[in-house]
Amino acid sequence: MNSDGKIDAAHGHVGSYYAATAHDLPSFAMLEGRREADVCVIGGGLAGLTAALELARAGREVVLLEANRVGWAASGRNGGFVSAGFSESILNLEERLGIDHARALYKLSVEGVDHVRNRITDSGRGDIIGGHGWLKMIRHGDTTALMRMAERMQRDYGATYCFVPHDELAQYVTSGRYRAGLLDEVPFHIHPLDYAGLVSRLAAEAGAVQFETSQVIAVRREAGAWLVETVRGAVEARDVVLATSAYGGPWRRINGAILPVSTYVVTARSRKLDEAIHFSGGLADTRRAGDYYRIVGKGDGRRLLWGGRITTRRSFPPHLGDKLARDIRSVYPQLDDLAVEHAWAGLMGYATHKMPLIGHLGQGLWVATAFGGHGINTTAMGGRLIAEAIVHNDDRWRLFEPFSVKWGGGIIGRLATQIEYWRLQFLDRFEEALAGRASALER
Ligand SMILES: Cc1cc2nc3c(=O)[nH]c(=O)nc-3n(C[C@H](O)[C@H](O)[C@H](O)COP(=O)(O)OP(=O)(O)OC[C@H]3O[C@@H](n4cnc5c(N)ncnc54)[C@H](O)[C@@H]3O)c2cc1C
Repeated sequence: MNSDGKIDAAHGHVGSYYAATAHDLPSFAMLEGRREADVCVIGGGLAGLTAALELARAGREVVLLEANRVGWAASGRNGGFVSAGFSESILNLEERLGIDHARALYKLSVEGVDHVRNRITDSGRGDIIGGHGWLKMIRHGDTTALMRMAERMQRDYGATYCFVPHDELAQYVTSGRYRAGLLDEVPFHIHPLDYAGLVSRLAAEAGAVQFETSQVIAVRREAGAWLVETVRGAVEARDVVLATSAYGGPWRRINGAILPVSTYVVTARSRKLDEAIHFSGGLADTRRAGDYYRIVGKGDGRRLLWGGRITTRRSFPPHLGDKLARDIRSVYPQLDDLAVEHAWAGLMGYATHKMPLIGHLGQGLWVATAFGGHGINTTAMGGRLIAEAIVHNDDRWRLFEPFSVKWGGGIIGRLATQIEYWRLQFLDRFEEALAGRASALER
């Protein structure tokens, strides 16, 4: 079992199911010496890679600088669920901004889903898609609220949810934990590291020059342009895109606005997977920091990929594989032969408002970051918005102006986030316990 979260020396990615099964990842040299470009993109996650791809396709000279490997961070370690929406709920956004603004944002998030699908299918890499559909299930008993939410999302946002009552859930899963669900056929799930590799390759084919192991240590103005410095080199560019997420990039104001939040994934073998899960799409529960999972691989290679838990601690938790295996068995006790193969952690970047930071900081300095836990579609959308702004002066990024760069509170902010998570976790357990009692009384 690979459960220490260490970097694999052979390919520089953290030990994960994705790193073990990735195909043909591109690799790039370290930046040495000084270069010029129209745009310098900092960060080779999906936000930076998508921006680089779109800018290069529009004819801009692009240099991308990545501190580790492209796709090394959240973008190559995530759950792989591609669906519309943001980390913040669209109904909360509607309350804050009004329905027209919320609809425009939702539409952009749907474009992000389409962008990912089109990149994959247009390049003949259908193997990156592992399955279609997403079933979200409730563990408490409030089916009326679930149905109302689905109706609103269908009526006002064109979402395609279908309500699955308790007695029909058995078609999808065999578990006593869930009370009802919402099925959406449009989302799909992917091998995220292969997808990051694909976007990087497409960007390279379009002319974007990429450097790995090239951490940016400073960004400053020099003679009317930006000078982006690494230990061994520098890039001079008119525009710079900051896409460094939770890892503490070179721009202090952005760093201070981002709260790094850790979350965890395992893959596990079991001969009894078919007794528990009968659905090839993604599955999740609706708790505030709930479980999300899916079957990956084929034939003898079939595994359960399970993600869950969040914390503001950065160190790798001891016995992570055992902890997540316990979570799995609490939902599927029939998986008593479960053997964890890989366990890994990933870091998400959150702003205090839970929305991405997308926009222009002035003088050609752009930002596309803080995509939180809902980043596959939104990084595609954000990377594209910034590229279109630079190339065509497109101002759709202004839809994100209400979500400005605010200080995340440093250590106090992290502590407050952790306490809020514990509070929400407590509320989830409380609601579940109530639902359990109610159904026991009904019997
Ligand atoms: C475990 C996990 C599960 C998730 N599951 C899902 C999911 O199922 N669906 C979904 O939509 N989203 C999910 N997410 C969220 C999603 O993965 C992220 O929102 C998204 O990948 C963020 O992309 P990014 O490009 O902004 O950042 P990252 O992927 O974090 O990339 C940032 C890059 O910047 C580089 N960098 C940082 N500082 C510097 C510097 N100074 N110089 C050069 N390079 C630098 C880093 O090395 C890193 O590679 C999950 C996240 C995690 C961690």
